[in-house]
Amino acid sequence: MTKPKIGNFPTSLNNLIKLLKNSGFLNDDNVESAFRDVPRHEFIPESELDYAYSNEPLPIMNKQTISQPSVVSRMTEWLDVKKGQKILEIGTGSGWQSAILSYLVGDGTVYSVERHPELAKFAQENLKKFNTDNVHVVLGDGSQGYSEESPYDRIIITAACTEIPLSLFDQLSENGIIIGPVGGNTQSLVLLKKTSRGIVEIKRESHYVFVPLVREFGKK
Ligand code: SAM
Repeated sequence: MTKPKIGNFPTSLNNLIKLLKNSGFLNDDNVESAFRDVPRHEFIPESELDYAYSNEPLPIMNKQTISQPSVVSRMTEWLDVKKGQKILEIGTGSGWQSAILSYLVGDGTVYSVERHPELAKFAQENLKKFNTDNVHVVLGDGSQGYSEESPYDRIIITAACTEIPLSLFDQLSENGIIIGPVGGNTQSLVLLKKTSRGIVEIKRESHYVFVPLVREFGKK
């Protein structure tokens, strides 16, 4: 991955990393390296640059957000990504989470589905700065997954759903892991594993708030 220059942001990034660690996030060295290698300020609109390293979600476009750094670190760590894996992300947004996954899979591949054409383009432009060749942004309804490249070792849903869409379980490989925010106005982060005996819940943590996963066809 070719890195753009980090400019005036290293102090802010170091402060954010310190804050995350002190509040129980970003415990994995590889995920910390990914945070340093794909700096968040490269994934937000210019109007938000002053807040790039504050621990809050920020508006991008189409009323959508780049997720809060603590949430991205929690989801990425729980997902337990290994080199060489094939990952499906639902909700590309800015492309920051995709870039972090791209860093962690090495020669593996990330497919990321986004429903807004403007955001898919925004993410692709952001990702281009890093010369990543292992992220494929797909325009479409991610609630249907992306069966063309299934099965996936890991699936990450970055928008709130009332339940995990059934098609995503079908597209997960055996022993694969899926994570997503499930609930109504507030959600629980739920980590599930597909085993030979069915889907098993591994972890759950409450009090998350994501923008909704918009399900075009109303299917489960
Ligand atoms: N992962 C993103 C990042 O790193 O910036 C943040 C994702 S944002 C919280 C949620 C995204 O999910 C939005 O970009 C939204 O447009 C997208 N989304 C919502 N419903 C979707 C659907 N059915 N299919 C694909 N994308 C969807």
